[in-house]
Amino acid sequence: MIIRDKILIIEDEETILRFMTATLTRSGYKVLKAQTGADAMLMIESHCPNLIILDLGLPDMDGVEILKKLRSWSGIPVLVVSARTMEKDKVLALDLGADDYICKPFGTAEFLARVRTALRHVRTAVGNIEVISRGTLTVRELTVDFDNHKVLRSGRDCKLTRSEYRIVELLARHEGKVLTYDFIMKELWGPRMGKDNQILRVNMANIRHKIETNPARPEYLFTEVGIGYRLAAE
Ligand code: CA
Repeated sequence: MIIRDKILIIEDEETILRFMTATLTRSGYKVLKAQTGADAMLMIESHCPNLIILDLGLPDMDGVEILKKLRSWSGIPVLVVSARTMEKDKVLALDLGADDYICKPFGTAEFLARVRTALRHVRTAVGNIEVISRGTLTVRELTVDFDNHKVLRSGRDCKLTRSEYRIVELLARHEGKVLTYDFIMKELWGPRMGKDNQILRVNMANIRHKIETNPARPEYLFTEVGIGYRLAAE
C-alpha cells in the first residue's frame, strides 16, 4: 500500500482552494481543507498533516497566529501563501518558522515544486539534517563542503573569505528556503548587529562574483527582494 502525504490547505478563497486541491489531488496527495483558523487548528490536531499550506489572510484570525501556535509544539512544514505586495508579512512568517512562501498568483509547476521541497526535508532550527549529516551539498556545478569550509564551482575552489563562506554555509544548510536578512545577520554577526544589512549586501555581491557565471543573472544565489536570500535546492 502506498502511503500518501497528507496536506492541509488553510485558505478561505474558494477559487484558490479549488485550484490547489485539484493540483495536489492530481499529483497523488491526500488533501484536507480548512477555511477558518479555528477549523484549521482542529484539523491539525486531529489529522497531523505532513505539510500545511497556509493563507495569511483568514476571516477569523491572522495566519501568523496559527503559525505561532503551531510552532510552540510542532515542526510540521508550513508553506505560506500570500499576496505579492505584503513583504512585511512574509518576513514575519519566515521569522516565526514558516518553511517557505509562495506568492499569489502562482502556476501549477511552481506550486508543486515548493510542495515537494517542503515535504522532502524535515527541517530543524539549524537546517536540513540530511544535508548537514552528509557533509556536502551539491547543486549542479556548485558544491558546499561543510567539513573543509570550502565552496567549489566545477571542482575549483571559489576562495571565499571566512564571512562569505559562513553566509553560503548558512544558506546551504537551509537549501531551497528563503532566509530573511534579519535571520542571516543574527546568525552571523550576533543579535547586536542592528538592522543595517549593508555588510550582508556587500558580502553577497562578492560571493556572487566568485560563484556565479554572471552575477547579474544568478543561477545559485537568489535575492528575494525586500525579504532575504535563497540558495537553489539540489
Ligand atoms: Ca484569504
